[in-house]
Amino acid sequence: MSRLPCTATLTTVPNIEDLVARDKDHDCEGFGLHNVCVKVEAVADLPTRFGRFRIVAFWNNRDGKEHIALVHGDVLGAEDVVTRLHSECLTGDALGSLRCDCRDQLGVALQRIAAEPCGVLLYLRQEGRGIGLLNKVKAYALQDSGLDTVDANLALGFRDDERDYAIAAHALSSLTVKSVRLLTNNPKKVTELEKYGIRVSTRIPHVIPANEYNRFYLETKANRSGHFIDFEGKPHVAEQDDPVVVVTDSAAAPPSAE
Ligand SMILES: [Zn+2]
Ligand SMILES: [Zn+2]
Repeated sequence: MSRLPCTATLTTVPNIEDLVARDKDHDCEGFGLHNVCVKVEAVADLPTRFGRFRIVAFWNNRDGKEHIALVHGDVLGAEDVVTRLHSECLTGDALGSLRCDCRDQLGVALQRIAAEPCGVLLYLRQEGRGIGLLNKVKAYALQDSGLDTVDANLALGFRDDERDYAIAAHALSSLTVKSVRLLTNNPKKVTELEKYGIRVSTRIPHVIPANEYNRFYLETKANRSGHFIDFEGKPHVAEQDDPVVVVTDSAAAPPSAE
């Protein structure tokens, strides 16, 4: 297991903005196989349709990408912080693609976090399970022409899942979060974070409320979890790997994401 040898440099600070000054000269042996080190570079307000957040922008020494955290409430030094690890999906999150349910997962997570005293959503720039946007579109094209998920991934030379949570683990350490309640249906994410020394006090099922537009899609994904089939009967890459838990009783469902 890789742990920070320089935990002293990740001391807690009075305000979240102070993390920028604290991390100015931060340099550690890092997390994981690739010695990932992360620094807080900027913090700002980010009011959203889901609630009020601070946006925390991280630099890292690994992938040249700009990972962020949306932070609600005071998470500095806090225990049991409700936390969601969301992997970027431009087509779903921003464009509303129905080839996946990433946008629903994102919106529901932000609503849930905004309703808690404090919480964090890490928005991780690992598009298409880590293969990148261009390759994800190539995989979609291969699936359109009849290849199944496995063959499409193999044809592109990738493993099933290229994601890595070392950046997420360091980012949570940088925020001085002491323990998390992880919003996920995927026990593997719990194991991954714990491997990097993040204390996961509990797992909270990530339940997606269905609305009239996505009910059929979500029910299909929930019922066919593990080998997702889209409306045209084609298997496709599951970009967020959480099996779906969906509330279909509209009377019992919390407000939808939109
Ligand atoms: Zn570091
Ligand atoms: Zn997606």
